[in-house]
Amino acid sequence: MSKPRELSPVLERFLRYVQVDTQSREDVEAVPSTPGQLALAKLLAGELRTMGVPRVELDEHGYVMAAIPSNLPPGHPAAGRVPKVGLIAHLDTSAAAPGAHVQPQLLTYAGGDLRLPRDPSVVLRVKENPALKGLKGRRIVTADGTTLLGADDKAGVAVIMALAEELLAPGAPLHGEVRIAFTPDEEVGRGTSHFDLARFDADLAYTLDGDGCGELNAETFSADSATVTVHGRATHPGMAKGVMVNALRVLADVIVRLPMDLAPETTSGLEPFIHPHGAQGEEAKATLRLLFRDFRTAGLVEQRRRLEKILAEVRRRHPGARLELQVSESYRNMREGLEKEPRVTAALEEATRRAGVEPSWVPIRGGTDGSRLTAMGLPTPNMFAGGYNFHGLTEWLSVDALEASLRAARQLLPVWVELSDPSRAPATAAGASGAASPRRRAAAPRRRSPRSPASPSRRSSRPAARARRT
Ligand SMILES: [Zn+2]
Repeated sequence: MSKPRELSPVLERFLRYVQVDTQSREDVEAVPSTPGQLALAKLLAGELRTMGVPRVELDEHGYVMAAIPSNLPPGHPAAGRVPKVGLIAHLDTSAAAPGAHVQPQLLTYAGGDLRLPRDPSVVLRVKENPALKGLKGRRIVTADGTTLLGADDKAGVAVIMALAEELLAPGAPLHGEVRIAFTPDEEVGRGTSHFDLARFDADLAYTLDGDGCGELNAETFSADSATVTVHGRATHPGMAKGVMVNALRVLADVIVRLPMDLAPETTSGLEPFIHPHGAQGEEAKATLRLLFRDFRTAGLVEQRRRLEKILAEVRRRHPGARLELQVSESYRNMREGLEKEPRVTAALEEATRRAGVEPSWVPIRGGTDGSRLTAMGLPTPNMFAGGYNFHGLTEWLSVDALEASLRAARQLLPVWVELSDPSRAPATAAGASGAASPRRRAAAPRRRSPRSPASPSRRSSRPAARARRT
């Protein structure tokens, strides 16, 4: 392990931002759910102002929004025609592993498995991290073994901040209007709950919230959440015969009837699941929280019907119990919305190629802020920012992939200028294949759970699945 060389601006930012504790909390209704997110938001807003970004706004919920004007000369054929491109990353980190006092370890990877310094039982294993194989002699960043790293999504934040600084400096690439947003509480599913689309004022956007190098996402689950409430009847257990209706037993009867072939533990790729992820109760009343997940939105209706059928069976077996079902919408697959605007994904693919990286479209077994923003009318696919193993103690970042993400984000801007230039034939691959929608990679999508498990693998070196929204 040798000491690192000089830090590029994007890496310097990354190492600094991960040290701000921005872990969000699901049990807090307020947005932001934690004060650290507001602290990072203030820091970023201040830095954007110092760079000379003319419009920077920070609201009480911790949303940072900024606007960088176009630098196209008035006579340029694309002037006034380039769509306003938004770049979005989230401030918060997952609650699935400790997020305070992050000590980033920048090192040159010597090959082999890597024990993290403050807890040697936490091991980054090559077997579980095939991306490490090509990185011998290259720089990576890990945490110290006691916390997550926070590359999800400080890597995206750092890329956007570094790009903003470049755009304000002499020699910036030609670009149209650029919009920037940093959002709070993405990890707890509230990243867009106060997102003001009018104030953001973009025509299309990209979230920099993906992992790996070259991975792009234009497809997510469609998702609903369900709550089953069982009302029983409590009595003294010594005098319960024929009187007590134990809501816990009734609830257990619901759980055992859930189809095991439709569970997160037994499905992958494009397969749907129903996932019981939380329960609480006593004899008188018990509740069960479930997730419905399917890449087809229509599949969510089938899942609801399936659960209703189970509840009907359970009602017959426990006539003294009362069972209620509530279902609410969580987010929708962005694919449909993005197919209406094929240039948005085509431009991302082209920019990634120009950055020297092979693009790869992967469906996410979860959601992103872009799932909701796309449904709200702002087409927003997701792109990689260089991190791996999100939400766990073995989270790490490839410095090469972080820098590739910055190159791809930078390339997006001239690609959009070219796409908007009527004097140019569609010379770019993006223009040439503009009508094509992203092809799904044949391989199964990366495992990425839609919600963190109760933390079964805190100490394990298994890559933690990406926890995603309720
Ligand atoms: Zn994220």
